[in-house]
Amino acid sequence: GEIRLVTVRATALTQRLTLLVLRDITERERVEQMRRDFVSNTSHELKTPVGAVSLLAEAIESAADDPDQVRNFASRLSAEAHRLGTLTSRIMNLSRLQAADELNDERVVSVDEIVASAVEAHTVQAESAGVQLVRGGARGVHVRGDAQVLSEAVGNLIANAIAYSPKGSSVGIGIKPADEYVEIAVTDRGIGISEAEQERVFERFYRADQARSRRTGGTGLGLAIVKHAVQRHGGEVRLWSREGRGSTFTIVLPMVPSPTDDPPRKPARK
Ligand code: ADP
Repeated sequence: GEIRLVTVRATALTQRLTLLVLRDITERERVEQMRRDFVSNTSHELKTPVGAVSLLAEAIESAADDPDQVRNFASRLSAEAHRLGTLTSRIMNLSRLQAADELNDERVVSVDEIVASAVEAHTVQAESAGVQLVRGGARGVHVRGDAQVLSEAVGNLIANAIAYSPKGSSVGIGIKPADEYVEIAVTDRGIGISEAEQERVFERFYRADQARSRRTGGTGLGLAIVKHAVQRHGGEVRLWSREGRGSTFTIVLPMVPSPTDDPPRKPARK
């Protein structure tokens, strides 16, 4: 009997080991597949603006006698080049976040400062779109992380809120501490996102509506960057939206006690 028991145990162990090895292979295959998809999607997405740039360069050459046309093509060329620049830097940022490269994320940083710099970086965009940015909420809240990465994440939400909002509307950026977490919410009264599409907007290169996104010059990478940046900080992104009414994207991050939250020390006596 004893021998059989041992055999059974050994078999169970082998099975478990096999399962673990299989799971590890599947995980590695999944990661490898994701990497392949990323490369292939990326090359595909780069082809369009690269193609446009070379077509426009040719058009400029053949329109050399017509200054108006040259100007027209040149300004479109510059817009495409700009778009290519944005796309490239976003691809780099996303691949860095996905690659588990080390982040500069051990510092205690102020949420006010993160939000302030994200707002600051988008004042020009807001002004030219005729959208007002309204900051509000708690002060003196801190998180642990990479201030630049987090600020870019908040900035991407602000950029979208502006891009998908009508002229004359306002975008709210609020900070709300809740238990061990802090919520950074960006609210707009823009076009909104249909329920069916709400899950998909965080996918790389996904745009809710090709035509309307193309008009805003989107890359489809902004929200994927937000998601990865926030997850790398142990947080999550929530989305509330109604078509035609607007959207609220909320970044939820673990909060660290602020230096001012420390119990007051007794003054040292000699
Ligand atoms: P994009 O560069 O196209 O804006 P994102 O990844 O930032 O890419 O967003 C993906 C898609 O989600 C957008 O193309 C748009 O369709 C939708 N979206 C994102 N933010 C908003 C918003 N605030 N209001 C409405 N739609 C939005």
